[in-house]
Amino acid sequence: MMTAVEIYKLLPKTNCGKCGTTSCFGFAARLASHQASPDDCPTMTASAREALKEADANRQPSPGTVYEQALRSLQPKIQALDFRKTAALFGAALADADTLELTFLNEQYHITKEKVTGPSGAEPLPWISILIYNHLSMPDPPQPAGEWITFSSVPASHAKDKAWAGHVEDVIARHFAGNIAALKAACEKFGGVPSDFSGSHDAACEFRFFPHYPVLLLFYDAVAEEDFPAQCKLLLDRTAPSYLDIESIVVLGEEFASRLTGGGCQ
Ligand code: SF4
Repeated sequence: MMTAVEIYKLLPKTNCGKCGTTSCFGFAARLASHQASPDDCPTMTASAREALKEADANRQPSPGTVYEQALRSLQPKIQALDFRKTAALFGAALADADTLELTFLNEQYHITKEKVTGPSGAEPLPWISILIYNHLSMPDPPQPAGEWITFSSVPASHAKDKAWAGHVEDVIARHFAGNIAALKAACEKFGGVPSDFSGSHDAACEFRFFPHYPVLLLFYDAVAEEDFPAQCKLLLDRTAPSYLDIESIVVLGEEFASRLTGGGCQ
């Protein structure tokens, strides 16, 4: 099978979202890990679709998707967790000795050392389980500091700046441009609380992606007369890097943007 980058080159690159993923690159990553079918993109050219199907038919049996492999590699860390200590450190509840209850993106998840289950009782997509396990495996994080930083202030974020802007902030800005009422309604649905953070933004809302992972969304609406496009900034608590590695911070941001704009899934 092709890599995500090779697949991306064949896609329309319009980020239209019709495949259920907010960006063509996100869709390419899902195709590369066999989480989607070329038929899920209705605007792909016939030749691209044919090339992708042919590559998929020729792929060698693999020991699992990259996500499944990542989940397996996390197992030693997960097995070593003391759930009582983990619950206290991460703001989770101990449902019983072997099960944690954790709020993630305003929904309740149950976590055992074997699996994660979402609000419906079903296992979420693998990258959600990886995010949650990565979060709970971080060693001794401090309490949130109550001090906001930009994504580019996070150590080692420079290689991910474009992904954060393009797949997270721009997705939200484009979707809600000219419609602050819809943004506020969506924020409320995801547990966002209006913030009195001072500045020139048109809307500010604070979220808890995890109980100890606050995020502040600032939205600046488009100003047609000044040719100013809508912009969005997601600020993180200064302690965010103690709660997730940089790749997971971006994946979590993408998942939030996808859910907030209506394209997400559990
Ligand atoms: S459907 Fe998905 S992959 Fe296809 S163009 Fe739209 S966003 Fe890109």
